[in-house]
Amino acid sequence: MELPSGIKMTPMLEQYTYWKDKYPDCLLFFRMGDFYEMFFDDAETASSVLDITLTSRSKDSEARIPMAGVPFHSVDSYLGRLVAAGYRVAICEQMTEPDGRTLVERSVIRIVTPGTWMPENAEGDGKIAALSFAGKEISVALLESASGSLRAGTFQLEGGVSLLTAFSPNEIILRRGQRDEFIKNCPLIAERSVVERDKGDFSPQQASAWLCRRWGIASLSAMGLDDRDEAAGAAAAALKYLEETQFSKASHITAVTPILPRENLILDQSTQTNLELIDKGETSLFWSLNKCRTSMGRRLLKEWITSPLQDIDAIERRQDVVGRLAEKRKLRSALFELLAECRDMGKALSRLTLKMGSPCDLLAIKETLKMLPEIISLIKEDETLSPLVPDCDASELSALLFAAIGDSAPRMLRDGGVIKPGFSAELDKWRDVAANSSSRLAAFEEGERERSGIKNLKAGVNKVFGYYIEVPKGSLSRVPADYIRKQTLVGAERFITEELKKFEDEIFRAEGEIQSIEAKLYAELVERTLDASASVQRGANFIAELDSFASLAAVADERGYTRPKIDMSKDFVVKNARHPVVELTLGKNPFTPNDFNFSAENGRRIALITGPNMAGKSTYLRMAALIAIMAHIGSFIPAESAKIGLVDRVFTRIGARDELARGQSTFMVEMVETANILRHATDRSLIILDEVGRGTSTYDGLSIAWAVVEFLQGQEHAKPRVLFATHYHELTQMADLLPGIVNLSMGVEESERGIVFLHKIVEAPSDRSYGIEVARLAGIPSAVLRRSQELLAKFEEEGAQKNEEMKQSPHSQLTLFDVRQEAILEELAACDPDNMTPLSALELVSRLRGES
Ligand code: ADP
Repeated sequence: MELPSGIKMTPMLEQYTYWKDKYPDCLLFFRMGDFYEMFFDDAETASSVLDITLTSRSKDSEARIPMAGVPFHSVDSYLGRLVAAGYRVAICEQMTEPDGRTLVERSVIRIVTPGTWMPENAEGDGKIAALSFAGKEISVALLESASGSLRAGTFQLEGGVSLLTAFSPNEIILRRGQRDEFIKNCPLIAERSVVERDKGDFSPQQASAWLCRRWGIASLSAMGLDDRDEAAGAAAAALKYLEETQFSKASHITAVTPILPRENLILDQSTQTNLELIDKGETSLFWSLNKCRTSMGRRLLKEWITSPLQDIDAIERRQDVVGRLAEKRKLRSALFELLAECRDMGKALSRLTLKMGSPCDLLAIKETLKMLPEIISLIKEDETLSPLVPDCDASELSALLFAAIGDSAPRMLRDGGVIKPGFSAELDKWRDVAANSSSRLAAFEEGERERSGIKNLKAGVNKVFGYYIEVPKGSLSRVPADYIRKQTLVGAERFITEELKKFEDEIFRAEGEIQSIEAKLYAELVERTLDASASVQRGANFIAELDSFASLAAVADERGYTRPKIDMSKDFVVKNARHPVVELTLGKNPFTPNDFNFSAENGRRIALITGPNMAGKSTYLRMAALIAIMAHIGSFIPAESAKIGLVDRVFTRIGARDELARGQSTFMVEMVETANILRHATDRSLIILDEVGRGTSTYDGLSIAWAVVEFLQGQEHAKPRVLFATHYHELTQMADLLPGIVNLSMGVEESERGIVFLHKIVEAPSDRSYGIEVARLAGIPSAVLRRSQELLAKFEEEGAQKNEEMKQSPHSQLTLFDVRQEAILEELAACDPDNMTPLSALELVSRLRGES
């Protein structure tokens, strides 16, 4: 970097600019004593983001260097805020001790980025995604450092993007030159922090060779991934990035697990947000299901919720465990007690591996390893639970940590006290020396008083000048001859003697020895821990799993949930279903249960739900989606009984939310989401549509809504299950015209004092929309209400006429064929024959034929 004019280069600034030039895209945290200092533009940025004072380096000089600093012991909270705001920070540490003469050596030791940020006690699990696009495919690698998990796969664009957004990475590694594709295809995560890497980093050949070397395997196929798969390239790019920013080997990541297409039920980001699956606050599904006692469990439960299963056997295995823990209350509460003592061992291991660990991380591992055998012995006897126990014997490490570390540990090694007394005789010896210093100093003082006869003589120590004997001015005449003058104060002189000097040397040496012995032992303990990292990681995963299961079991037991039957039918039959979140927030009012009834017997798969606002339509719709998701997680559900045919994807199009904030019109967003649903729904999808068509004029909206229902009803190959809430009464006629459609409405009771919402689903269309009654409940003045009544009568008359016309229009059903044909034409228009090889042209033709 160029220094602003008028600023003189100094050795320190030279060092600063050297590092700043190496990491131009980072804020540079330049360690100076107990502070990290930032200069120039970095200082200004930090000062505004962190709200810290902007000062200057040399106050007197004309040319001022802007400067801002944060204390090193609380650096984590500042880093957290910078990273959340999307900044990257290079940590430049002092590598030598300051001696007051030469310039301290400094070096960047780590880069803190949104995807690698993993603070000890706060949110931040380090989630990185790497991706590359190739034609209509996308290869994705998902790396979660805190749990040591690295997964990768290659997918059709749409499926891969859903997976990626569901993972919700903090940072994204892109292949250079693909930013436009990324922004176009992944709008929901386009604003996350993005880093570009060269094509070579993504090359499958190089990547597989690199991964195989580090894991000592001959081919990635040992892990189920093809060496030529672009996904291998993405996996290596993610892992390389983690190591490159942390300047250390991520040895806790020991494998790449292939993500198989169709392995998980797909929930794209908008569905996750619409359904409030894991948002913070007391309205999310995660909030209602989370009774986990550990952060590891909470992390896994979130993962389960956002990637439900697709394999009936796997779902049933989870249901077995949940059922077992639900019925065994005593066992569960004993388990919870043990789990509550566990700390975040996964994250601690990851932090130590990446050299960002502290003594607290060792302590976390020690405490958790201590619980592990007890937890295992608790469930070992149970035949349903025992298969969960992995090979995670870390008893040797556990014993070592137990012997070496006390019950509390400092956050910084240099604060001392990490190693327990009794572990190292040498350390104990020096600690004794240091500990006895004050009593020895007192004895020395007493001796000197006697020897010199000076009653008010004092012996003490001062950080800068060291040990001294202080004699007040009035007694100086009696100072013994061997006293050597050291310092003059206002009312006294300070001296030193040979004996005191020796004592001082010994104490200083003791302090140095204590520090270096502790540092050496600490480093050994970290090394031994990393040697056992595979077992520690397995232990951490096991605890996470057990905690999530126990949480689901506790919820199931305490709230009277039942085990849903999942099969290969297309049914969605749920008796007396309750909303898992709303039922908890109603307080004294009980939730009114409702049924869902799509089955092969009754031939129904589309429900049109009408009824006034506030009647409970949205709640009913969301309840269906949440119950489907819970069932695929392996959780029990809030209902009397349920039979659910496997769902491959839950689609939602729900009300207007924050679209305006994103600068898109509500209607546009509504249509984009609806288009996505129409194009991608399959035979196994569950679709929730809330008020589609609302964002435009009545007849536009009605026509679109009508056509959408027709389309969903009429496709030959894709007959999804659909719940459609609408305020367009006209749509209810469709049930008479087309098979498979049923009209439902929310029961309303009219009394003299107005209407009462019964929240009960009725198998009939709602007779009116009751908008004016709801307006009355809300306190609209009666003059306005009267006028609305008049207008309503007039509009209804006109409307009835238009309806007739609509009914008459033949159902020119838009078929799947039309949509495919359109897609084929689009693809043909987009291809570039001049730049195609004969082989790729052949491939295109054969693919298009397959799709037609
Ligand atoms: P709509 O979508 O018809 O406008 P909502 O689904 O938003 O109505 O429901 C309005 C309110 O009614 C909810 O906030 C909830 O408190 C209550 N509610 C909805 N369904 C039920 C139910 N089945 N039992 C009890 N209260 C309900």
